[in-house]
Amino acid sequence: MSDFRKITPARRESVPVYKTHNEYKPLLREDFHQRCGYCGDHEFFRDTYYEVDHFVPKKSLVNISPTEYSNLVYSCRSCNNSKRAKWPTGDENIHNDGKQGFIDPCDDAYAAQFERLADGSIHSITDLGDWMWSALNFGNPAHRVRWKLEEIKIMLKELDEVNIDSLEELRAKEKLNRLYHNLEEQLRGKPKFD
Ligand SMILES: [Zn+2]
Repeated sequence: MSDFRKITPARRESVPVYKTHNEYKPLLREDFHQRCGYCGDHEFFRDTYYEVDHFVPKKSLVNISPTEYSNLVYSCRSCNNSKRAKWPTGDENIHNDGKQGFIDPCDDAYAAQFERLADGSIHSITDLGDWMWSALNFGNPAHRVRWKLEEIKIMLKELDEVNIDSLEELRAKEKLNRLYHNLEEQLRGKPKFD
């Protein structure tokens, strides 16, 4: 088991005034370190679109503006499509009741609801985590595959930096490369995960 994520994303405090929420995408992309706020998957693998999600859904906004930066989340299409207009408290100021609802991904408490298993899949460790796990469809196998790909990509990069001087090491590197390409095919192959 490993930590759910290494860094907590943080939204910048001052942003320009834009007319549409989508114009904030480049800023959000930076503030979320090119990762989906919800599942933590890195956009590098580009098998899905990354979008701008309204944390409190537009439908439930009363006083908060739809372009309010503190309400926007950089999100992969899988999480955005799964979340849709779900907002069980019905109140823009109450994010959850401890059992149902959401935690802002920029809050440290968000990551405390989940962990990653060794195979890369996301596991929930609290009642609220269980609810968000279902609401965000974290069972989507794409999350496990992207996580493994990132792990292998880091290992291959490390191997590139050292001299490989035995046949065993060379074989191990080839095996990792094959695994990487198989996983990549799984991600890009049909049927699509999202
Ligand atoms: Zn996601």
